[in-house]
Amino acid sequence: MTETRQGGCLCGAVRFTAQLDSTEFGACHCEMCRRWTGSALLGLMVPEANIAWQGAEHIKRHQSSDWAERANCSTCGSALFYHVTMDGPMAAVYEIPIGLLDDASGLTFTNEIYIDHKPDSFAYDGNRTRLTRAQTLAKFGISDKEDQA
Ligand SMILES: [Zn+2]
Ligand SMILES: [Zn+2]
Repeated sequence: MTETRQGGCLCGAVRFTAQLDSTEFGACHCEMCRRWTGSALLGLMVPEANIAWQGAEHIKRHQSSDWAERANCSTCGSALFYHVTMDGPMAAVYEIPIGLLDDASGLTFTNEIYIDHKPDSFAYDGNRTRLTRAQTLAKFGISDKEDQA
């Protein structure tokens, strides 16, 4: 099951076409995602091979930790993707904010991570997997020391 979706940044300088293997997405409430997006990252995982960028010269990458980068549009500042730069299975995957999609409906919200770091002023309704920071790190095999997302 592959589904094609298109999206782009606020100003339109960066556009993409993504082939989604899955329409499931998750939320990350960690401090870095909160500062980067202004709230929580609602992100879809898209294999690198399944995404084609237009206006790539406007993609500004920021190495946000020793092992991952975050990219924004150099013109309007929209958050474009989170990408693990360290070798490993995650290196071939881009996490794309669902808000970039021209049509973000019809997706399934399946999980939340760093739930214990979410501000208490809001909560997403509904039933889904919710992991604390410690459970998230254990799931991805990351040691406490390496955690800087
Ligand atoms: Zn832009
Ligand atoms: Zn995060």
